Amino acid sequence: METKNTWETYDEKQLQEVDIFAKDYMDFLNNGKTERECIDTIVNRIEKEGYQELEALIKAQKKLQCGDKVYSVWMNKSIVMFQIGKKPMAEGMNILGAHIDSPRLDVKQNPLYEDGGFAYLDTHYYGGVKKYQWVTIPLAIHGVIVKKDGTTVEVNIGENEDDPVFFVSDLLIHLAQEQLEKKAAKVIEGEALDIIIGNKPLVIKPEEREEKTIGEDGKKEEKTEAAGGQKEEKSEKEAVKKNMLAILKEAYDVEEEDFISAELEVVPAGKAREAGFDRSMILSYGQDDRVCAFSSLKAMLEVGATERTACCILVDKEEIGSVGATGMQSRFFENAVAELMNLTGEYSELNVRRCLASSCMLSSDVSSAYDPSYAASFDKKNVAYLGGGMVFNKFTGARGKSGSNDANAEYLAHIRAIFEKEKVNFQTAELGRVDLGGGGTIAYILALYGMNVIDSGVAVLNMHAPWEATSKADVYETKRGYVAFLENADL
Ligand code: MN
Ligand code: MN
Repeated sequence: METKNTWETYDEKQLQEVDIFAKDYMDFLNNGKTERECIDTIVNRIEKEGYQELEALIKAQKKLQCGDKVYSVWMNKSIVMFQIGKKPMAEGMNILGAHIDSPRLDVKQNPLYEDGGFAYLDTHYYGGVKKYQWVTIPLAIHGVIVKKDGTTVEVNIGENEDDPVFFVSDLLIHLAQEQLEKKAAKVIEGEALDIIIGNKPLVIKPEEREEKTIGEDGKKEEKTEAAGGQKEEKSEKEAVKKNMLAILKEAYDVEEEDFISAELEVVPAGKAREAGFDRSMILSYGQDDRVCAFSSLKAMLEVGATERTACCILVDKEEIGSVGATGMQSRFFENAVAELMNLTGEYSELNVRRCLASSCMLSSDVSSAYDPSYAASFDKKNVAYLGGGMVFNKFTGARGKSGSNDANAEYLAHIRAIFEKEKVNFQTAELGRVDLGGGGTIAYILALYGMNVIDSGVAVLNMHAPWEATSKADVYETKRGYVAFLENADL
């Protein structure tokens, strides 16, 4: 079987649409570098399109009907959207699912220290990263610091051209003989991924100096005049760290202890870029899996009145196993379905189960694109090609499909027929060569309800790297595929 190149299937008008879509997608990437930022961006968008918050509708005891648009956000990190269809919900929904968390470095709870004249933030990486890729590149810090009184301070620094950036150092090549003998997994260790945030000591003005030299016991400390003298150094201990704390206090009104209740994510600094002379690709951080999240979102907003209720779930924590209250394993989705059915007048325990069991889902996540530089890692007949269209993975998993959802042949046949009818270019793929490894997605979790689920999505080159590449044509084509699915799936 041959894969068609998606670019060759487009006419002039579609080629223009591809570029408009890509621009919108790149804006989405730039505005959503964390789960919370993605949720903010999404809610802003969908409220303009008539989506109403489920919790408010519950309070108002609003009766819902066909065409109504509803969303529910869980803990600022996950969201589910519904557009109510013509048929009763108990007959099943068509669900799009993707995740909005991405690999990164998370700042630890006691992170700030000084060493060798540098102030550092200690980090703990999140998700699968090749650690050596994170050194010597400009980094930004995004996230929140929640203070004891409950106020939330938002942090977003490193993205504007005049913002400072942060970085992890690496050993100079001239002294790296021993380092370069190490295995790639060990060449940069997790504890070495601390980011440098400053190098300038707190300067105490002479008039403040008198005060500062009074010790805690009220006694005046002895001081030598000579700069760099031992006693001088002792009283100015950790002056770079102190300077950092002074800056943080000034900028965000936070204390060192406030790191305890902070979620700060260190991500590659900079915007998504077009790649190639032909501008055919997008190079950006966080495309796993915001590429599927964005195209799912756009499909939801584009689709007209549907037979079955259209649903879109964009979740947190996929990269670490879909755990926690905001991961796919949490009951928030099931609860939202029950609440929604209550408002359409359909609620019963049995109807909720029927709704979930009768649903069809495209569980979307990125697929590894064939990389000619690492050809031996792939099966050329069963791999996704950049530009080859939307990807279907019948199964994922590792070591003999372990941990995978394996979609039914009947479901694949149904999807195939829809895509052919709607002229959506697609390809089927596996992650890589059978014995090499693998990965999981959220597909198996929704499959627990007994619904039809298949892994699908967009091919990505150098997935999980600080900068990942996708094809503009694939992103656009995948959105077309989602629309076709929402309008036609019924199995
Ligand atoms: Mn993913
Ligand atoms: Mn991933």
